[in-house]
Amino acid sequence: MQELNEIKGIGINTIKCLNNLGINNIDDLVSYYPFRYEVIKKTNMKEAVDGDKVTIDGICENTPSVFYISRKLNKMTFRINTGYMVIKVTIFNRAFLKNKLIPGKEVTITGKYNLKHNEVMASDLRFGLLEKTIIEPVYHSSYRINSKKINKIINSVLGKTKVKDYIPLALNQKYHFMDKDRAIFLAHNPNNMHVLNEALNKLKYEELFLFMLKMNYLKNNSRLTAGLKREVDYVKVESFINSLPFKLTSDQLKCINDIYRDLTEPKRMNRLLQGDVGSGKTIVSFVALYINYLAGYQGALMAPTEILALQHYLNMQKLFPNLKIALLTGKLKAKERKELLNSIKDGSIDIVIGTHALISDDVNYKNLGLVITDEQHRFGVNQRGNLKNKGITPDILYMSATPIPRTYALTLYGDMDISSIRTMPKGRKPVTTILKKDKEIKDVLYMMLDELKKKHQIYVIAPLVEESENSDMENVYELEAKMNKAFGKVATIGVLHGKMKPAEKDEIMEKFKNNEVQILISTTVIEVGVDVANATMMVIFDSYRFGLSTLHQLRGRVGRNDLDSYCILISDRETKRLKVLTETNDGFKVSEEDFLLRGSGDLFGERQSGDMNFKVADIRHDYDLLLRAKEDSERFLKSKDYMAEHNKHIHEHILMAVDLD
Ligand code: ADP
Ligand code: MG
Repeated sequence: MQELNEIKGIGINTIKCLNNLGINNIDDLVSYYPFRYEVIKKTNMKEAVDGDKVTIDGICENTPSVFYISRKLNKMTFRINTGYMVIKVTIFNRAFLKNKLIPGKEVTITGKYNLKHNEVMASDLRFGLLEKTIIEPVYHSSYRINSKKINKIINSVLGKTKVKDYIPLALNQKYHFMDKDRAIFLAHNPNNMHVLNEALNKLKYEELFLFMLKMNYLKNNSRLTAGLKREVDYVKVESFINSLPFKLTSDQLKCINDIYRDLTEPKRMNRLLQGDVGSGKTIVSFVALYINYLAGYQGALMAPTEILALQHYLNMQKLFPNLKIALLTGKLKAKERKELLNSIKDGSIDIVIGTHALISDDVNYKNLGLVITDEQHRFGVNQRGNLKNKGITPDILYMSATPIPRTYALTLYGDMDISSIRTMPKGRKPVTTILKKDKEIKDVLYMMLDELKKKHQIYVIAPLVEESENSDMENVYELEAKMNKAFGKVATIGVLHGKMKPAEKDEIMEKFKNNEVQILISTTVIEVGVDVANATMMVIFDSYRFGLSTLHQLRGRVGRNDLDSYCILISDRETKRLKVLTETNDGFKVSEEDFLLRGSGDLFGERQSGDMNFKVADIRHDYDLLLRAKEDSERFLKSKDYMAEHNKHIHEHILMAVDLD
């Protein structure tokens, strides 16, 4: 059995519901594990206090009375005798059970206890007494398909389908793991906590082991792939560095060194350059492109937004007037694009800067030696893969401004070498971050006015509305009207949002850069990379809606020189979480905190790729298991066992998962 339509007794509608939950085949189905387990255990009512969630069982004392409050709402009350006391039960919208609840019927009730009225407000009712503790699997469900139904469907295929165990025999023995079939059965049908944990442990380990195996495989593989060996005179690099208007920090120099070494050695580079917002990664990437150019290869720099691509392009042109640098974005006209593609192909272009357009199928390079992606966490793994495919074996440099907690470095970037910029360029002052409530907007406006008087510029992030992009846009314009009312006489206000055409975005960004616009109201499109030194204030509405890392990134737009700068977080909610930002400017601490509070989601922004979506494992809690899986997978890859016939399926799984070029 492989496909959902082979399951007896489920129809096309149910299949659709399952698809919506991300379940597309039998493998997905059996590994659709509960996200939590509800433990249903009888409460000792002698100890229960008012407001407790309690579970009691007993027999119905009377025929329930039902009140129909509205068409969609009814309320039923009855009494049960627990053998120790009689308790009143109230439950909503179960009128359909009335005829079954005859006196003498055994029932189990879960709900909130009201001591004064000796009543339970029931949220759950099941027939029969509670003989022993029940552990109930709870699945992520939808209103079309509930948790119980999901469990039923899963159980209807368990045993009828063969699951592969991806843990090598030796390791299964070493840890005394149970069979995978049994582990899966127990995960969906737990009957005691201890055994359930054993089952989950097996499944978690398998998931982490495979993940680390994949990472280690990739790492070894990129090591083994012959890279380009370049002859580059470091003196030339040095003289460029010395010509810069500022002195590079020692961390920047160290990163350049790492890269220089990678590029000149035959090993293929697969490196992550990480550093907080504003730490100066861009110039490092430019030097990398320059080294690559000196050796006679083409280079490509991919940015996540058009605005950022343009900014890099203009900066790089300024620094390297003699190089042929091109900007390739989605907004080029067909004819311009064609001409540009030709010059890339015939090698008359040295360096191409652009957005996703860089990895379109029709872009062919003459001799692409180096590919750099900026703000790499914004790109999915597939795009990462695509870029790799472009050259012969180009070296790869990823840049990320989201400092990664240790765990993540190990997992997400386990296949890469890492260079870090830890210190900020000299003269930077930390951004003062202030929390304000919605009703304190007046204070905020005064603070804004102060900055405007000092001839500084301001970013304003409009409230984020999840429903649709259109309402985002409306929000931006609504805010523009308000800001115009407040500052129309002293400042020019511009807006920026995702629905604007690239050319319009560039135009407004250009105006902001040239200080023709003093207040820029925007959605989070400006989150990454944009550099306007005269902007000293960032005002973020509804800031509770964002993850700390995103807010930190936004805040990084200001404080780009030695002026005092401010970030104002407006929020009525989650102020405790947001307070972290008022206490530290250290992106590493922020992301660590974010990680603990919210999990991985926000750290990697729009990364849609599958590899961090663990099904059972949670690397915050299963860190020890992860470390073990890491070691085991390293050893396994080197061992003879890896190539053994009985482990062939593991090797095949890896190859399929990493999809190497
Ligand atoms: P990010 O790491 O966030 O991409 P950028 O590369 O955009 O940061 O750098 C932020 C600003 O700091 C830029 O204006 C850049 O020119 C400047 N900068 C970079 N390195 C230094 C340095 N060593 N000293 C002073 N300013 C620097
Ligand atoms: Mg940057």
